Amino acid sequence: MSINDTALPANFIRQIVAADLKSNKHNGRVATRFPPEPNGYLHIGHAKSICLNFGIALENNGICNLRFDDTNPEKESIEYMESIERDVQWLGFKWSGLHHASDYFEQLYDYAVQLIQQGLAYVDSSTPEQIRANRGTLTEPGIASPDRERPIAENLDLFQRMRAGEFADGQYVLRAKIDMASPNINMRDPTIYRIRRVHHHRTGDTWCIYPMYDYTHCLSDALEGITHSLCTLEFEDHRPLYDWVLEQLQTPCHPQQIEFARLQLEYTIVSKRKLNQLVTEKHVSGWDDPRMPTLAGLRRAGVTPKAIRDFCERIGLTKQNSWIEMGVLEYCIREDLNENALRAMAVLDPLKVVIENYPEGQTEQLEISNHPQRPELGKRLVPFDKTILIERDDFAENPPAKYKRLVLGGEVRLRGSYVIRCNDIIKNADGMITELRCSYDPDTLGKNPQGRKVKGVIHWVSETHSYPAEVRLYSRLFSVPQPDNEANFLTALNPDSLEIIPECRIEASLADAQAGHRYQFERTGYFCLDTVDSTDSKRVFNRTVTLRDNWEKD
Ligand code: ATP
Ligand code: MG
Repeated sequence: MSINDTALPANFIRQIVAADLKSNKHNGRVATRFPPEPNGYLHIGHAKSICLNFGIALENNGICNLRFDDTNPEKESIEYMESIERDVQWLGFKWSGLHHASDYFEQLYDYAVQLIQQGLAYVDSSTPEQIRANRGTLTEPGIASPDRERPIAENLDLFQRMRAGEFADGQYVLRAKIDMASPNINMRDPTIYRIRRVHHHRTGDTWCIYPMYDYTHCLSDALEGITHSLCTLEFEDHRPLYDWVLEQLQTPCHPQQIEFARLQLEYTIVSKRKLNQLVTEKHVSGWDDPRMPTLAGLRRAGVTPKAIRDFCERIGLTKQNSWIEMGVLEYCIREDLNENALRAMAVLDPLKVVIENYPEGQTEQLEISNHPQRPELGKRLVPFDKTILIERDDFAENPPAKYKRLVLGGEVRLRGSYVIRCNDIIKNADGMITELRCSYDPDTLGKNPQGRKVKGVIHWVSETHSYPAEVRLYSRLFSVPQPDNEANFLTALNPDSLEIIPECRIEASLADAQAGHRYQFERTGYFCLDTVDSTDSKRVFNRTVTLRDNWEKD
C-alpha cells in the first residue's frame, strides 16, 4: 500500500492495479510506459496519460518508461523527440528507462519470422486498395487474399527479400494470418510489415521495411516487462490483436491493456495532426504559441506544471468519453497562481496623473508586500513621485452608478500608497483626456483618512520610474466549445485570441523579471515574461489567465 492511498481518489485503473498487486498477478510488479509517437509536440491530452502512467508507477513503487513509438519515419523527427523529453521532465516526471520502438526493430523482425514459421503470417502482394476492399464490413466477412495460403518456405524467402530491399515500396506486405471472418475487423489478417524507403531519424537507412503500430506496440510492451499498458478507448477494438500477437509468440511477459477515455477539452483541439496544421499554416506562431494546448504553449503562457498535474487529477479517469470545460483548466491555473505568483503593478492603458501638492523632485520608495496572504514572500520597493500613471478606465468623467474609482472631485486609494483626490481634468483639442490634476493626502500612507471613507483602490506606476513593456493578452484559440465538430475546424478559430498592447508601463521591480517567472499584475490578470521574444530593451509579458472567469461575458 502506498503512502498516498488515503489522499488520492479511487479510479478504476487504481483499483485494477491494487487488485493485481493483491493477487500477485504480475509477481507484485507495476510497470507502465508513456508511448508517444514523435510526430508533434505533447499536448494537454498527453498530460493526462503522462500523469496517469507515471502516477500509477510512483504510487506503487513501480517503474514507468518513456518509449517513443517511432515506426512512421516520414512524420517523425529528432526535434519532436527532444521536445517530448523536455516536456515530460518539465511536467515533473522522471522515466525509468528511455526506449524507442526502433530499438526493437531486429527483435520485431525475428518475431515476425517466428510467426511465419508457425504458419501465422504470410507475404501478400495485394495492393493497399485491394486489402481495404477485401476487408469486408461489419455485416460481411472479408475475402481471403490469393496469397493467404502461400507456403511457409516461400513466405520466409519473400520476407527476407523484403528486408533486403529487393522489392519496390508497396509491392508486398506481411500480414498476420488470423481470421478473415472475425466480427472484429482488426483481426481480419492485419498488415504487420510494409515496405517504405524512408530515412529514419534513428536507424537511418538500415531498414526499408517498418512494422505496423499494433504489432509493434504489444511487443515493445512485452519486451520492457510492462505490466499495465494504459491507452485510450479507441484501442479497445485492437486489444484482441494485442493479445493474439503476444499469445502466439509466447512472450515471457503478457502486459494487460486497459483503456480509458481521452481528454477532450472545450475551446481547443487535442490532435497532433490538427495542431500541426495550425503551425504549418501559420494560424499560430509555433508549437509553443501561448494559445496552443501544447505543454510548450502552456509553459510559455506561464502555466505551471503543478496546475496541469492538478487538472489531470481533478478531471478523473473514466471509460466514457466526455468534454471537459476549459474553465476547469483555467480554475486550476488560477488557483496555483493566486497562491504562488508575486504581485506587481502594470498599467496597460496609461493616463497621466500629476499630484500638484507633492514636492517637485522628491521620490519615495514605498514598501509594498509581494503577496497579501503570504508575508514570507517579502516586500518590494515601489518608487512614488509627483507624476504617476493610472489606467484610463480607472477614471470616469461621467461615472456610472456605483462607480468606485476616481471621479472629478472624488478620492481613491493608490495601492500601497496614498489617497488622492482629482481636482481637474486636462483635455486636448479633440476632447480626449490627457492628464488629471490631483492632490494627495500625506496622512494616508498605510492608514485610513480621518473622518471619511475611501472605497476604491486602483493600481499605478510612477511615470519616470517605470518601464515600457509589450503585453500580449491571449484568450481561447477557438470561439466554439467543440471546434472538432465543425466541418472545417479552422473556421472556428477565434479572431480575437490575441490582443497586443505595445505600450504598457510596468513598475520598476518588474525590470528584473526573469523569463518564466509569474506575476499577478494587480487587478489585471496573471502574466509572465515571454521566454522567446523578450529582450532587455523590449520586455514582453504574456497573459496566462484572467483574474476571474469572464469568458461568457466577453
Ligand atoms: P494525437 O491524435 O494527438 O496524435 P495520439 O494518441 O496519436 O494523439 P500518441 O503520441 O500516440 O498520440 O499518444 C501517446 C499516448 O498519449 C498514447 O497512449 C495516447 O493514448 C495518449 N493520448 C493521446 N491523446 C490523448 C488524450 N487526448 N487524452 C488522453 N490520452 C491521450
Ligand atoms: Mg498516434
